Amino acid sequence: MTPVTCYLGLGANLDQPADQLRQALSALEQCRDIQLTGWSSFYRSKPVGPQDQPDYVNAVARIDTTLAPLALLDQLQAIEQQQGRVRLRRWGERTLDLDILLYADQCIDLPRLSVPHIEMCNRLFVIQPLVELAPDGRLPNGTALSSILETLTEQDQLVIMTTPSRADLLSPP
Ligand code: ATP
Ligand code: MG
Ligand code: MG
Repeated sequence: MTPVTCYLGLGANLDQPADQLRQALSALEQCRDIQLTGWSSFYRSKPVGPQDQPDYVNAVARIDTTLAPLALLDQLQAIEQQQGRVRLRRWGERTLDLDILLYADQCIDLPRLSVPHIEMCNRLFVIQPLVELAPDGRLPNGTALSSILETLTEQDQLVIMTTPSRADLLSPP
């Protein structure tokens, strides 16, 4: 299969969240069927859902992959598990969340997988890092990502934390 380009949403709010994201990027880089081609800055954001949980660190990664959509989801869930993800409550605290935002220009509607990610256009913490990484990007229906960003101005502003280099991904915290 020819590799396709995908965008992944990363989020964490437990156990040194920025290190969790760095570790997740390293894990993606080490997957045989995935090539990590870029990532956004790390952003601090307020939780959605339950408010009695720590702030999040969010970022978006770009990959090229030969994995089919569900195989990619399996791989991402395996990385979540390696990093100790435990599901206690919906939208609750977690060491790592890895979501498929965009898979080439495909629309996917399966019980386990909806792409584009169903909530992405409502979330500044997804769209802002995605536009940073893909300023000219579009949804499969042709909508410019930058135009979605303009609809999210009323949400709490994100705080830009850092933009890790490739060397930072592998260096110890
Ligand atoms: P949200 O999806 O609103 O961001 P969440 O990421 O916390 O919430 P999870 O507990 O990580 O939700 O995932 C719940 C289920 O969502 C997964 O088991 C997976 O099958 C399903 N899912 C559907 N579409 C996607 C997608 N695009 N990326 C990742 N998981 C998805
Ligand atoms: Mg999520
Ligand atoms: Mg998820």
